[in-house]
Amino acid sequence: MPLLTMKQILDDAIAKNYGVGAFNINNMEQTLAIMSAADRTESPVILQASRGARKYAGPVMIYGLVQAAMKLYPKVPVALHLDHGNNFETCKQSMDDGWTSVMMDGSLMEDGKTPSTFEYNVDVTSRVVAEGHKRGITVEGEIGTLGGIEDGHGADRVKLADPDQAVEFAHKTGVDALALAFGTSHGAFKFKAKPVLAYDIVQAVNKKMPGLAIVSHGSSSVPPELVAEINKYGGKMPGAMGVPLEDIVRSIDFGVRKINIDTDLRLAATATIRKVFVETPEKFDIRDYLRPAMEAMSHVVETRMIAFRTAGKASNFTKVISLEEMAKVYAKK
Ligand SMILES: [Zn+2]
Repeated sequence: MPLLTMKQILDDAIAKNYGVGAFNINNMEQTLAIMSAADRTESPVILQASRGARKYAGPVMIYGLVQAAMKLYPKVPVALHLDHGNNFETCKQSMDDGWTSVMMDGSLMEDGKTPSTFEYNVDVTSRVVAEGHKRGITVEGEIGTLGGIEDGHGADRVKLADPDQAVEFAHKTGVDALALAFGTSHGAFKFKAKPVLAYDIVQAVNKKMPGLAIVSHGSSSVPPELVAEINKYGGKMPGAMGVPLEDIVRSIDFGVRKINIDTDLRLAATATIRKVFVETPEKFDIRDYLRPAMEAMSHVVETRMIAFRTAGKASNFTKVISLEEMAKVYAKK
């Protein structure tokens, strides 16, 4: 099966009321962990690479990893998505590199820190949509500003999305998916207390635009048992806290379709590696700690796929809609 567009996956999620995890990849271990979990649970999946990942492994390596994993797990429907593109050029480069979906985060300026204006966001996102749709590629935008920093990307002040402005933004830009700031946050230290998600924002946008896929960024649950494990084996993560998994699951019923998860896999890997180092200090074969780390990450992904009701949906994708076909659909609009 070739790469799917993210739109094809999210359209099915909209039609059948489920959520799809978008998991960040930087290396082979993460890619295999996610893909094997998708295979075991028969789930479609969104693999996403940020600018940081593209810098770390290089776009050729990331693309190659995904292609290899797809050969190993040919039944898994996969979309490859750019997470937090910061300008037109980064998005266009990812399109040239074979990504089937990009995010243009125009809620922030190119530096990835300074909140932008609505007009700037509409302008830059519209240009990415025009370029992407010409090629059949899916485009995600963002409205409102999320808290928390992810790969050096994020504003220090949070601004929840205004539903009317979100709808206006989606109409003006033509985005396929829209990240809404509704109370989630990036990273492991995002909250001082249990967060309260503003489901009403999601619900209001979904009511006016039921065909728009709403995206929840910063949706790691930061499982306390993983944080405890990290701290037990010499780590230092006091007060790490995430969004409870049941709250994220609830947001699916209000219209969230794409759920971004990165931190939880980092925690699972770090906890496992620390444990191996402390309990068996004589080990130095990298497979001795990366193999269990991979298994721990895969377990996290599997639980999310089951919770988001993605499990069992792989068989919905018997036909891959090609980029050419998608481009024709967009051209008619
Ligand atoms: Zn994000």
